[in-house]
Amino acid sequence: MSSLKTNEWENKDQSERNKVEPSTLYLVATPIGNLEDITYRAVKVLSEVDFIAAEDTRNTPKLLQRYGIKKPLVSYFEHNKRERGEYIVSRIEAGESCALVTDAGTPAISDPGEDLVVLCRERGIKVTSLPGACAAITALTLSGLSTKRFCFEGFLTYAKGQKKARLKELSGEKRTLIIYEAPHHLLDTLKDLYEAFGDRRVAFCRELTKINEEANQMTLSEAIEFYTENKPRGEFVLVIEGAEDKAEPEFEMSVQEHVEKYIAEGYTKMDAIKAAAKDRGLPKSTVYAEINK
Ligand code: SAM
Repeated sequence: MSSLKTNEWENKDQSERNKVEPSTLYLVATPIGNLEDITYRAVKVLSEVDFIAAEDTRNTPKLLQRYGIKKPLVSYFEHNKRERGEYIVSRIEAGESCALVTDAGTPAISDPGEDLVVLCRERGIKVTSLPGACAAITALTLSGLSTKRFCFEGFLTYAKGQKKARLKELSGEKRTLIIYEAPHHLLDTLKDLYEAFGDRRVAFCRELTKINEEANQMTLSEAIEFYTENKPRGEFVLVIEGAEDKAEPEFEMSVQEHVEKYIAEGYTKMDAIKAAAKDRGLPKSTVYAEINK
């Protein structure tokens, strides 16, 4: 068989394998800004399923139109997910195939897709996921911060007490941290992050894949100043440097010893706490609490 023929067979095999199957939920990643960021397979599945469950039924038609796809849409979003989830599952159980698309990016990452997957799995429905654009991963790769180990926090809660408590738990996290944030909450979140983490570097990944894409790195204190003067606009992913760089191998001494070292050098207790906190990339309150345990 010539190599051309081999390729033809491979392609045929691939396309057989990619045939849309009945009674299946397809999670289809869609672009996060640039309409061309979509895979061939995603376009094929969207064109062939019986119906599409969409988080935003005003936004998804623009994408479908771009690829000449005409399919019935069912809305599925945060505030109708219980009742709609049941409806979607009943149609899949009756033999239909469904593609789930969310507003943008990978379904089930910080959007109601997660609930539909749980429901389908509970009911023994086959679910498959087509990889594609995801805001968190796009931001991480652009951030210029360490990509070796990272963790994803999604949206922080807006309940003030819970948010502060969660950030305190995360303050010692050594992996690069990715969070999603809405522009109108950005400044508040930066202040909370500064209080909990000290002055870390953050990459502000804004309007990814769009004309005004940016991935500027600033420290938290610089960012608070900048966004106090410039109203945040557009969509943001924050990629925050982990605690490890400053905190680890340099400091074989304990926090207590670190503060005592500065006191021995003539610092007042408060200045010693401040200096040790700065060296370790920790908030003053954490050092204070540590030495008063
Ligand atoms: N499931 C999607 C994903 O992970 O790709 C994310 C859905 S979540 C409801 C929406 C959040 O993703 C936005 O608030 C923003 O933080 C982030 N996001 C989505 N598109 C973005 C873009 N083009 N640029 C920056 N952030 C974006």
